[in-house]
Amino acid sequence: MTESKISLAPPDDLKPRKAHIPFERALRWRARLEDENHLPAVSVFISQRAFVRFCAHAGSDLDNEVGGWLVGKWRADKETGEQFIIVEATLPARHIRHGGTFLTFTQDSQVTLYAEFQERFPNKELVGWYHTHPRMGIFLSEYDTWLHRNFFPEPYQVALVIEPFSSTGGFFIRQRDGTLNPHHYFGFYELNNRGNRSVVHWRNLSPETEILSVQGDNP
Ligand SMILES: [Zn+2]
Repeated sequence: MTESKISLAPPDDLKPRKAHIPFERALRWRARLEDENHLPAVSVFISQRAFVRFCAHAGSDLDNEVGGWLVGKWRADKETGEQFIIVEATLPARHIRHGGTFLTFTQDSQVTLYAEFQERFPNKELVGWYHTHPRMGIFLSEYDTWLHRNFFPEPYQVALVIEPFSSTGGFFIRQRDGTLNPHHYFGFYELNNRGNRSVVHWRNLSPETEILSVQGDNP
């Protein structure tokens, strides 16, 4: 086996660029488990286009796990310094090894994805990965956790698990102290630039409509 060293993450000293955190054009989807004892290191925003993409991929194979990379931006808010990521695109993995209940990104798949990532998204960051758990629920297995720690070690890199049968999903995000709970998932912010209707259909998350109504009260 040839040894190929690819770096999936930027150097440690890299800092997020400054931007405006787009709360006012996003709909918050909250998981039931969320509370003030679990504070994620980053807030996750998703474009509607990216959401539709990874859901379509998730529903394309209901017998095997499928997955890929999440591509977008890692930023810090200009005023508060709060860190956030915006998932803007997906890179579905093609060379994956299917086990009974697990998915392995083979070395080939990582090399192929990295080449594709550099070519198609030279100015974007690798913000995480996604995979499905058909009929299994939303959690990170021991292997998933190992994979996340080794291939997606940056504090802002997240793991998304989608369960296509029950239409559920959730994000595993490191907390501010660096720990990751494999059973505690978070919701996200659905980004909506054009005032479209929501495209989110996951049954385990609830929309938080206060944000929009506050906006509506202050024309
Ligand atoms: Zn898994």
